[in-house]
Amino acid sequence: SQDAIVIGSGIAGLASAIRLKVKGYQVDVFEANSYPGGKLSEITLNGYRFDAGPSLFTLPEQVEELFRLAGRKAEEHFEYEKLEVACHYFWEDGKQLKAWADINRFAEEVETKLGEPAQNVREALRSSAFIYEHLAPLFMHRSLHQVSTWTNAQAMKSYLKMGKLGIFSTMHEANKQRFSNPKMVQLFNRYATYNGSDPYQTPATLNIIPHLEFNIGAYFPKKGMHEITQSLYKLAEELGVKFHFNSKVEEILVEKGKAIGIKVQEDIFLADLVVNNMDMVNAYKSILRKQKQPKKLLDQPKSSSALIFYWGVKKEFKELGLHNIFFSEDYKTEFEHIFKKGSIYDDPTVYINITSTHKPDDAPKGCMNWFTMINVPNNQGQDWDQMIAEARKTIIDKVNRVLKTDLEPLIEVEEILEPRTIESKTSSANGALYGNSSNNRFAAFLRHANYSSDIKNLYFCGGSVHPGGGIPLSLLSAKIMMGFVGD
Ligand code: FAD
Repeated sequence: SQDAIVIGSGIAGLASAIRLKVKGYQVDVFEANSYPGGKLSEITLNGYRFDAGPSLFTLPEQVEELFRLAGRKAEEHFEYEKLEVACHYFWEDGKQLKAWADINRFAEEVETKLGEPAQNVREALRSSAFIYEHLAPLFMHRSLHQVSTWTNAQAMKSYLKMGKLGIFSTMHEANKQRFSNPKMVQLFNRYATYNGSDPYQTPATLNIIPHLEFNIGAYFPKKGMHEITQSLYKLAEELGVKFHFNSKVEEILVEKGKAIGIKVQEDIFLADLVVNNMDMVNAYKSILRKQKQPKKLLDQPKSSSALIFYWGVKKEFKELGLHNIFFSEDYKTEFEHIFKKGSIYDDPTVYINITSTHKPDDAPKGCMNWFTMINVPNNQGQDWDQMIAEARKTIIDKVNRVLKTDLEPLIEVEEILEPRTIESKTSSANGALYGNSSNNRFAAFLRHANYSSDIKNLYFCGGSVHPGGGIPLSLLSAKIMMGFVGD
């Protein structure tokens, strides 16, 4: 059988390894870290467990599909539940809102609490479903780098509906037109952050995202987010995929226009094909430094990054759920800081993810594990130490105001993740969470293809290539990539 090498064991690297193995390849995965999962890993601190990176889980069938492909019953290996409340929203004026998964219940809650007609919410979600129906088959499930994608009938139908797909206005403009209450505009604008973009720049097409959370649903793996990569890692091992940890690949070896293997320290490993799951920009700078550089793609603006405080909090706050948002009073200024000034606004929107609300053993009794995150610019060499110290204070002040508490003495353990460590731990260029940003209307076309057009037998998967970042799209990148293997 043929040999395949996968560089990186992020979620897309794991998915690629499983797909290649199922297709009959001998698969070796080389991972720089001592653990699998990349951004989707976990940390434990004095009795507290935290999912290190992603916290919101949508489109679980993308994970299940891998178990089915391998002839397993997904439900026996990977369990998850649908959330009844997708998110708990808080504003400084005391207003609170629960985003119920049941759309009618959510729409009614919005009408009662904010005076926004329920009809507007239902219409927003219908319109989101419409965009999804027309664009998902085109952008999410196929390569944009194949002629057939562009000539198929689905594509033609979509062109005709361009007006309704929101490519000519920004997300903010569209939401402002739809909702009368600025809080609802803000709530729907927030979806731009799901792929690290700016609602004031990104096309309204990204109003596709609420469809995933509301119409399809938000989920939580019973053992935490980490179980997603853990269960895929176990599956890959059972299938016979060989993992090499602490093995940083230094070069992809290319001979006569073909990828023939990799170099890890002084060792050379040969293979019939190589799949790269390392961030595309950093890959061209390092392991592909001797190859032709796709300059235009490499120069695209990157998505935002994040600053996370993992806090063990020795108190239970009953008003908090799994996902909580404390909104900024001035969203526009917050995004100007992130995307224009490269700084952190002094009233940032604070996101708190608390898995102990659904998985009590993630925190000691009577305590909570707070994954407290704000969106921040990607790393351009700012003075992060100073910015982080200021942000920590700002965040604690905001939490104190909203929850009418005194947080500082309640924090008994702390660890921090920030743009520089996101890059050093997972190799993401500038610590961006989602590869390129989607701030311009052509962004979808300016992502690297799932194969190399210069080097045969070299393929790409992961959040920095087509179709984009986030768990579902990273998983889809592996699926689309397989369409080219063996061509
Ligand atoms: P990555 O996770 O980026 O992993 C790449 C792997 O390659 C790493 O393990 C790295 O060590 C390895 N590697 C790199 N270079 C080499 C080399 N030279 N040799 C060997 N190995 C190498 N997505 C969501 O869907 N929902 C969320 O709520 C969400 N929130 C997020 C919050 C944070 C804080 C972060 C950081 C990300 C979040 N994301 C979220 C995005 C999501 O985590 C990523 O899009 C996704 O995990 C990317 O997976 P990937 O396959 O591209 O690989």
